[in-house]
Amino acid sequence: MKNKVVVVGGGASGLAAAIFAAENETDVTVLEHQDRVGKKILMTGNGKCNLTNMSDVHGKYYSSDEASLNKIYDTLVRFDARKTRDFFKRIGLYTKEKRDGGVYPVSEQASIVLDVLRSACAGLGVTIRTDCEVTSIEPDKSGVAVSVIQYIRQEKEQRKSDGKNKKNAVVSERKETLRYDRLILATGGKAAPASGSDGSGYRLAKRLGHRIIEPLPALVQLKCQGDYFKAVSGVRAQGRLMLYIDGNPAAGEEGELQLTDYGISGIPVFQFSRLASRALFEGRGCEVGINFIPYIENLADVHTAQFQDKTVEEFLSGLVHKKVAALICRRNGIPAVMPVGQAGEGKVRECLKLLRDFRVTVTAPNAFENAQVCCGGVPLGETDGNFASRKCRNVYLVGELLDCDGICGGYNLQWAWATGAIAGAAAAGRVIEKEDWK
Ligand SMILES: Cc1cc2nc3c(=O)[nH]c(=O)nc-3n(C[C@H](O)[C@H](O)[C@H](O)COP(=O)(O)OP(=O)(O)OC[C@H]3O[C@@H](n4cnc5c(N)ncnc54)[C@H](O)[C@@H]3O)c2cc1C
Repeated sequence: MKNKVVVVGGGASGLAAAIFAAENETDVTVLEHQDRVGKKILMTGNGKCNLTNMSDVHGKYYSSDEASLNKIYDTLVRFDARKTRDFFKRIGLYTKEKRDGGVYPVSEQASIVLDVLRSACAGLGVTIRTDCEVTSIEPDKSGVAVSVIQYIRQEKEQRKSDGKNKKNAVVSERKETLRYDRLILATGGKAAPASGSDGSGYRLAKRLGHRIIEPLPALVQLKCQGDYFKAVSGVRAQGRLMLYIDGNPAAGEEGELQLTDYGISGIPVFQFSRLASRALFEGRGCEVGINFIPYIENLADVHTAQFQDKTVEEFLSGLVHKKVAALICRRNGIPAVMPVGQAGEGKVRECLKLLRDFRVTVTAPNAFENAQVCCGGVPLGETDGNFASRKCRNVYLVGELLDCDGICGGYNLQWAWATGAIAGAAAAGRVIEKEDWK
């Protein structure tokens, strides 16, 4: 008789796990509590799905300790971006690489990524049960008993006035206990909970004996102190940013900074946001120094002599966005109408220095609703090399549920595919080696 494997969670890691398990002569079921699988995949890469990255992975991931980082890199050598592309090609999706190494479906449509995953599952006979919430997992000697709530929706499709189908309301629920030989927990973290990752996986893992490193929002905007943010909201600027934790430089990034009415956003902010999240959670001080003029190497190269009659604000507007120029003048007590000649060379130099290192105090990360991923989760040391639990037999843990988070650029999905593939194959009795194709 075939081994019965259940995958809890039909996201990126769960669907990859299901396919790799089913390819190895296993009877696979996916239990998903949303009304459809893969909702988060549709949101990725602004609807284009940056599904992996061909660049070197070193320095692109975070975890709580050095040993965990080594495990992440070992995993991503064993199942690297090339294997992810091969996997997608095998199930019918061609991909393309962009200049920064980011890999996308050739059509740049995230929906195609989900389509091919679903059709691969269907082709391999994977059973997908949606509206099916896993509420507890009870391991025994030979497998696991899984308690679920099956939500039952109204049968008839309802039409909305705009002609579209209305989501049928849940009218009842049925409780069941199901038995499987092996279980793969692929419930994701807490980021973007509307997509289904509501944190219930942490509770399930905890009840299986796992420790949970406090999950915090990562790849997220940062809220900052200051009543001036409303005035500069909407500004986008090429900036060089330095994150300071307790006054010490912790990470530097360069790229398009976005100012919002509550603080700072944009890719460079996202990249170090997890460090800020963790530092604030630990009660440490967090500041960001913004260089609004990274293209000016030497301030001595900026001359004011021929602009004596211009207002300081007009002069600075030649270097940065008008709203930022106005803010810098206000911060230096320079009235909007004051000419450069009247303000004096010293005052103008002070403005330039402020443009070069404008410090903002970070008060909090934005909410999980706005975060792309979580940092924290189940410690990697509590799983073996194939992501089998060291706490509980016949259980595997994969994806964002684990204490691993990557920077923007396809690294988080790569982690989901890699851990899903390795655990899925292992649950079916096969170990993926570095030189292995699948
Ligand atoms: C807006 C946005 C854009 C992103 N863009 C990118 C990108 O371009 N590239 C990139 O690499 N990463 C991106 N990410 C991150 C990436 O999507 C995630 O890291 C990845 O999807 C995590 O996969 P996962 O399978 O671990 O979890 P998820 O994709 O979150 O899947 C978990 C699944 O488990 C289900 N589930 C949870 N609890 C239960 C339960 N108790 N019972 C049954 N089912 C349950 C959930 O409904 C969900 O379907 C983005 C994230 C967001 C939010």
